[in-house]
Amino acid sequence: MRDLPIFLNMRDRPTVVVGAGVVAARRAEFAVRAGARVTVFAPALGDEFLALKDAPNFGWTPHEPSLEDFAPASLCFVATEDEGLIERARAAAKRGGALVNVADRPKLSDFIMPSIVDRSPLVIAVSTGGASPILGRMLKARLESLIPAAYGGLAELMSRFRGRLAAAVPSQTLRRRFWETVLEGPIAEAALAGNLEAANTHLEREIDLWASNRASPAGEVYLVGAGPGDPDLVTFRAFRLMQKADVVLYDRLTDARIMNLVRREAERVYVGKRPDNHELPQEAISALLVRLAKEGKRVLRLKGGDPFLFGRGGEEIETLAEHGVPFQVCPGVTAAIGASSYAGIPLTHRDHAQACVFVTGHGKEGRIDLDWAALVQPRQTVAIYMGLRNLEPLTREFVAHGASPDLPAAIVDNATRPEQRVVVATLATLAEAARAANLRGPTIVIVGTVVALREKLDWYAPAGR
Ligand code: SAH
Repeated sequence: MRDLPIFLNMRDRPTVVVGAGVVAARRAEFAVRAGARVTVFAPALGDEFLALKDAPNFGWTPHEPSLEDFAPASLCFVATEDEGLIERARAAAKRGGALVNVADRPKLSDFIMPSIVDRSPLVIAVSTGGASPILGRMLKARLESLIPAAYGGLAELMSRFRGRLAAAVPSQTLRRRFWETVLEGPIAEAALAGNLEAANTHLEREIDLWASNRASPAGEVYLVGAGPGDPDLVTFRAFRLMQKADVVLYDRLTDARIMNLVRREAERVYVGKRPDNHELPQEAISALLVRLAKEGKRVLRLKGGDPFLFGRGGEEIETLAEHGVPFQVCPGVTAAIGASSYAGIPLTHRDHAQACVFVTGHGKEGRIDLDWAALVQPRQTVAIYMGLRNLEPLTREFVAHGASPDLPAAIVDNATRPEQRVVVATLATLAEAARAANLRGPTIVIVGTVVALREKLDWYAPAGR
């Protein structure tokens, strides 16, 4: 993040605008709307300023600003093409202790002006860090169309009832749930349809209802698959549940960029496991899920990939079912599917494979318990999870059970992430090639003639590779 996004309280603060054009007028207008005391320094004011002239917090001075003009100033907007004036204004503003923005010149600016969607009191600001103002404006346009104008009214309504709700419903968790219920139900519908009076009456009634019913809310567990790493592969449903959680239990394979999508206030509990050393035994995780849900919390159990595929998701919610704790399961893109797409290796293909088998290559002391006769069938692809550490015995067993040593095999490390690496080899050479590439995992191994398709279908080129 290049800049710190904040919303400044500018009420009654002096603000200097240097320039007479349309950009200067826009800057002045925003500052006036935010209640700042705005003075425009320009030889003359054009029609762009007409709407502002009568505002009590707007003033105009025909000369250039001097040091004294800045003394109490907190912000300074410069919007002129005159390089000399830009430099003089910047120098004076700096000495006066004001933060400066020069229009379209991020390098000369202490802060940049975002693109703004104003549904006051709801305000959305978009910045591209100066990288592409056009992209910022495009996003703003999308947001404008996405967020009905009536959202302002809804936000204002909620703000009016905040204090009253706090008095009536002391529990913060309960209050949050109250507002979620409001936002998902008929009250919000009425407000968005412009019927603020009905929304108002309904809201009053609803608060009384919640205030008199002090029963603690029932908790719930969301078992959610977050996909293999690329946050774009998180489903809408997963995202919604991630936004609702009071507490999240996550493990080692959960990508930091995915954790960033979880509701910021949610408590985070690491229950990760390393390959050999189970930090928190499965039973302890299940017991924790039960306990938290019984405390009334909405518990997000976040899993890499899909929760029901080599994820022990089934075991965790079995315990929940036994304890009568309500839960939902949300599927995710499993690692083999992510690896297949992002490595350009289709798992089935008319000319190569009609079936695909997902197996785990996990095993103790090189003893891997798999149905080898079934795995070496022709016209089939095998995707191996957790196979990195056993590559040697795995590939050896394939060949020992009749697969050709020349059968193409690939290993996809950190699939779908910017650091993804793919090593293509054969059964005979894969283990050595993976060692030479010093792969760290997590990895998916793909065995089958479909691997040859990558030569044509490789498309994923993360930045910097
Ligand atoms: N439930 C998960 C699998 C959990 S088992 C899923 O559906 O994907 C953990 C194994 O998944 C790892 O050892 C590795 O084999 C695989 N894996 C998870 N994320 C991966 C990634 N981004 N790239 C490659 N393999 C991954």
